[in-house]
Amino acid sequence: FVEPFLHEKVYNHGHAAATIDPKKVIGEALHRRVGAIDHEMCDPGDEDTFYVADLGDVYRQHLRWKKNLPRIRPFYAVKCNPDPKVLKLLAELGTGFDCASKTEIEQVLSMGASPDRIIYAQPCKTNSYVRFVKSMGVKQMTFDNADELYKIAKLFPGAKLFLRIMTDDTSSLCRLSMKFGAAMDTTEGLLSLARDLGLNVVGVSFHVGSGASDPMAFWKAVRDAHIVFQQARERGFSMRTLDVGGGFTGDTFEDMAAVLDGALDEFFPTGCGVDVIAEPGRYYVSSAFTIACNVIARRTVEDPTLDGKGYMVYVNDGVYGNFSSIMFDHQNPVPKILRCGGETMYNKPGARPVPAGEGVEYSIWGPTCDGIDRIAESVRFDPVLDVGDWLYFEDMGAYTKCSATQFNGFSNSHDVIYVCSEPGARALIDL
Ligand code: PLP
Repeated sequence: FVEPFLHEKVYNHGHAAATIDPKKVIGEALHRRVGAIDHEMCDPGDEDTFYVADLGDVYRQHLRWKKNLPRIRPFYAVKCNPDPKVLKLLAELGTGFDCASKTEIEQVLSMGASPDRIIYAQPCKTNSYVRFVKSMGVKQMTFDNADELYKIAKLFPGAKLFLRIMTDDTSSLCRLSMKFGAAMDTTEGLLSLARDLGLNVVGVSFHVGSGASDPMAFWKAVRDAHIVFQQARERGFSMRTLDVGGGFTGDTFEDMAAVLDGALDEFFPTGCGVDVIAEPGRYYVSSAFTIACNVIARRTVEDPTLDGKGYMVYVNDGVYGNFSSIMFDHQNPVPKILRCGGETMYNKPGARPVPAGEGVEYSIWGPTCDGIDRIAESVRFDPVLDVGDWLYFEDMGAYTKCSATQFNGFSNSHDVIYVCSEPGARALIDL
C-alpha cells in the first residue's frame, strides 16, 4: 500500500511501554466525573449521561487485527461510531475508511486523509453524492444492480467499482443481504453491462452481516468472490482488490480470522496479485466505550411474584438515546452499579448483577414517555438503588450514539471523556 499500514511511530514506541490497567484508567475517569457533580444543586443537564472512551482499546484492536489478518487492510466503517478521536487515531494508524454518505466522506477528508483511503461502500447512492465524490476525487465505490451502473455511467464513469455480492448472513445479528448484494446468478449480466458501458470494475465486495457468528459465512463468500473474479476476467476486467466487508466481533475474532485467512490462502493465495481490504466497524470500537447514566426516578413495585418488593428504576438515557442499539442492533446492555448511596463501585463485585434468589429485582427504564423505552426487563442487585445513584454499561461503542435521537427533547450529544490505557497510542492522539 502507498500509505503506511501501521504508522512508524507505532513501531518505534508502540510496544515499548506496558499497557496501563484499562479498568483502573476507566474507573478513575468515571468516578472523577460523577464525584464532581453536586447532585443537590447542579444545573439542568449537569448529571447527564456521559461516555468514557479508552482509545488504548481501539489501538489494541488494531494490533490484534495486524497479528491475525496481516494481509488485510481495514477500512474502518465510519457509520458504526464516527467519533472524531477514534477516526483520528485510526487515520494515524494507517487504516482506510468505509463511508456511506457525504457527511462521513467530508469528515474523513477534513482530517487530511487522501481520497484513495475512502471506499464509498453504499450500493444505492444519491445522485448528488455521486457528483460530490467525483469532485472530491473519491473513486472507490460499490454497486450491486444495473440501475446503479447506469447512474454511475452518467455521473462518474471514471469510478473504481466493486461488485457487491450477496452472502449467507443467516447467522448474523443484523442481516444486510436482504437489502444489498447481487445474487450469484446476476453477476455475469452485471459485469457484461459494466463492460458495455465502459465502466471500470476493480474488485468484489461482500458483507457477511453485522455481528456474524458463523465463520463459514466468510469461507463461502470468498469462494463466491473467486467465481466472480473469473467471470470478470472472461469479460476483460483485471480485478485487483477483494473487499471482505465487516461482521467481525471482538468475542469471536480469532476464529473468524482463522477461517477467513484459510479461505484467502485457498482462493486468493499470497502473490496472486489481489490486495485484500475489509470494512470492520463494531470490532474496532465496541469494547472501547463505557457509558454512565444517572438514576433519575424510582418506583416501588409491590408484587408477590417479586418475592415481596421490587423497583422500576428510571435513568437519563434509553432506547431513543444511546441505547438505540437495543432496537437497531439487537443488543442487551448489562447494567452495573457505578455509585450507590455515595459509595463508588466500578468494577467491584457488588457492582455486578446477582443471580435469581439474591438481592432485589429491578427493571431499568429510559427517560422518555414511551413504554418501549426499557433498557433491561429484569436485573437483580444486592445494594438497593435510589434516585441519584449511577449505573454504567460496558461495550457501548458500536451503533449507539450514532443512532441516538432527540425524542422528547432529550439531548443526543453527550460528553465523551477520553482516556488511553496504551502509552504507545498516546503519541498519536491529543487527549
Ligand atoms: N460495511 C458495510 C457496507 C456495512 O453496511 C456495515 C454495517 O452495516 C459495515 C461495513 C460494518 O459492519 P460491522 O460493524 O459489522 O463490522
